[in-house]
Amino acid sequence: MSSPTDPHAQVQELRRQLQSLLDAAKANERKLDRFDALERRLIAVGSMEELVNLLLVDCRADFGLDAAELWLLDPDGELQRALPALPMVRAPRLLDSHAALKELFGGVRTARLVGPGHDEALVAKAFGAGTLVRSAALLPLIRQGVLIGSLHFGACDPERYDAYSGTKFLDRLSAIAAIAIESMLNRERLRRAGMTDGLTGVHNRRYFDHRSLIEFSQAVRHRYPLACLFLDIDHFKAINDSHGHPTGDEVLRQVGGLIQRSLRTGDLAARYGGEEFVVLLPRTDLAGAREVAERIRQMVEEAPFVTPEGGTVSATLSAGLAMLPADATSFADLLNAADRALYEAKRAGRNRTVADDLVPAGS
Ligand code: GH3
Ligand code: MG
Ligand code: MG
Repeated sequence: MSSPTDPHAQVQELRRQLQSLLDAAKANERKLDRFDALERRLIAVGSMEELVNLLLVDCRADFGLDAAELWLLDPDGELQRALPALPMVRAPRLLDSHAALKELFGGVRTARLVGPGHDEALVAKAFGAGTLVRSAALLPLIRQGVLIGSLHFGACDPERYDAYSGTKFLDRLSAIAAIAIESMLNRERLRRAGMTDGLTGVHNRRYFDHRSLIEFSQAVRHRYPLACLFLDIDHFKAINDSHGHPTGDEVLRQVGGLIQRSLRTGDLAARYGGEEFVVLLPRTDLAGAREVAERIRQMVEEAPFVTPEGGTVSATLSAGLAMLPADATSFADLLNAADRALYEAKRAGRNRTVADDLVPAGS
């Protein structure tokens, strides 16, 4: 047996300690490398869906996690409207108030490690009742002092996140994730503001001019029908004059909403000018386009438009319809034909649909 002073045993013991220090340093270096790679990718992401996929899917794989959740505050429903169109493998949970975040973090503004014996109850709050997660890191996402969401990393191993682990890497990661999220939201807002009309929420003329050329060339190349509708509110000046401009605005906004709701994905609606909207219906023939125009016209005719004062006014609109001729060489021809048809609809008494061949709808 060796005594405590046995030089051989001492060397062995020192070797063992050195090896375990080296192992710890290596593990730390690998961890640092993983965090570093993640931070670089976070800073470089180009779209909201890429960012969400990175945080929820890639992080989970890279860090060997069993669960990852992202909560984002969305009091105005802005994200709720934007997200369904994005190709995301997993979606963040959108919160309409601070309440859920407050439950997780209270006044704490740094990463919280939760698990058996340390704030265990928060695991179920962060991952849902019945979760297999046993320990977790809950990262608050803070921008300009305000909590904007949270990122949750969970493990089935109850000791993966114990109360004594350091949170330096995690705090740094949450700070960078928060910046990436905010800059992505701003970029998304700008992108949409540049494409949509502020009053009605439908696309603006600039976006229409761009998209319509793509739709036109696609329809010509693939030889499918492309219908164009011009929709113009009747005697709109009189609505403004007798009820006031804010009521006029409200009618415009609601007409924009009605048009938008009458269309399928792939159709394109835009506010073309003052009280005039334009709609493009790819792969739609004359009969189909007439049906869409008539449906919109009837909905407007029947709608009670709510005024800012809480009263109602009624309105009608006229529709001009044209089909892309098989031999068309310019998109302007199609627009001109629809505009001509609209003029005819006005001349014939308004509140009606006229196709460019001058045959009134329904006949
Ligand atoms: P018609 O049936 O021939 O189309 O008659 P109209 O009165 O609708 O057409 P006109 O072109 O004479 O008038 C359009 C009016 O739309 C005039 C303009 O002040 C109003 N207008 C344009 N943009 C807006 C807007 O954003 N808000 C409001 N409230 N009014 C607008
Ligand atoms: Mg008008
Ligand atoms: Mg007009």
